[in-house]
Amino acid sequence: MVLCMHYCGTAVIVAHGDAATRRDIAAGRHLSTLAFSEAGSRSHFWAPLSTARASGEEIVLDARKSWITSARHATAFVWSSQPAAAEGFSTLWLVPNPRAGLAIVAPYNGLGLRGNDSAPLAAEGVRIPESARLGADGKGFDLMMGIVLPTFNVLNAAVSLGICDAAIAATAAHATATRHEHAGSSLADLPTIRAYIARMKLRADLAHTLLADTIAALASGRADGMLRVLQVKAAAAEAAIDVTTTAMRVCGGAAYRKELGVERAFRDAQAASVMGPTTDVLYDFIGKAVCGLPLF
Ligand SMILES: Cc1cc2nc3c(=O)[nH]c(=O)nc-3n(C[C@H](O)[C@H](O)[C@H](O)COP(=O)(O)OP(=O)(O)OC[C@H]3O[C@@H](n4cnc5c(N)ncnc54)[C@H](O)[C@@H]3O)c2cc1C
Repeated sequence: MVLCMHYCGTAVIVAHGDAATRRDIAAGRHLSTLAFSEAGSRSHFWAPLSTARASGEEIVLDARKSWITSARHATAFVWSSQPAAAEGFSTLWLVPNPRAGLAIVAPYNGLGLRGNDSAPLAAEGVRIPESARLGADGKGFDLMMGIVLPTFNVLNAAVSLGICDAAIAATAAHATATRHEHAGSSLADLPTIRAYIARMKLRADLAHTLLADTIAALASGRADGMLRVLQVKAAAAEAAIDVTTTAMRVCGGAAYRKELGVERAFRDAQAASVMGPTTDVLYDFIGKAVCGLPLF
């Protein structure tokens, strides 16, 4: 997820950032991330309540960001706020980290993705140069939808599917290696267990196929590219929850212990469905797209 967020921030910087930052990213000297989610608008990341105010040649930022992956380690944040002056939903900025006025409110202590360092951050009177703006004032929404959403949804789906594959591999290894000695058979000798593993694999591979098709649709500019982008994150996130829940059942009591790695996959799988755009918001968007209604 750290890498997913790095690539999302990088995609915006490649399109609208300065040459020095792009060089630093290429040289592996710059860790990027997104600072979109806020305490006020929660998972509706497209509607920031935080502000950007012009002060001479500087911009003054105030915000209550709720989740920023790599909060303590990022070199800079790709940051959303309300526009400084223009009309529109939002404006994006490149905010160096650390910076006077920026404070981590609480360290990350989540159920899963324990290495994520996704912390809430407060900004009080943070001053950045006006040149730190990414794209035009008021055009943040266009960058979120045109650049960040496809990148994030595809990579977030890839994270979910990596978790699925890890859970399936751990489950198959456990099922083949674990024996009921009194019966002289392994867990994998039980048709019930094999059927669960088959359903895990089927669920994961359906989402893998959708991910491959989404990438193909984006690469060739297919008309259904954005529909696929909406679908793939929801499909993969829900597959990961389903697959890892089944892994917990198949591996039985052993799954509760850390050494198998299944409980970690189960915990890690939960985040994607509530990361914006959440699965339920995506269902709403997909339904609107199918019905020919505007998404916003
Ligand atoms: C591990 C992790 C890392 C994260 N990293 C980042 C990051 O790097 N940068 C960043 O900006 N954010 C990040 N986030 C935040 C994430 O993108 C979401 O903003 C956050 O998870 C939303 O949580 P919430 O409780 O505020 O959601 P809420 O908005 O309170 O949603 C609660 C529930 O209501 C549902 N809901 C909300 N609106 C609708 C609707 N219109 N229709 C149907 N259902 C709806 C949601 O689907 C959800 O189930 C991260 C989150 C996690 C868990």
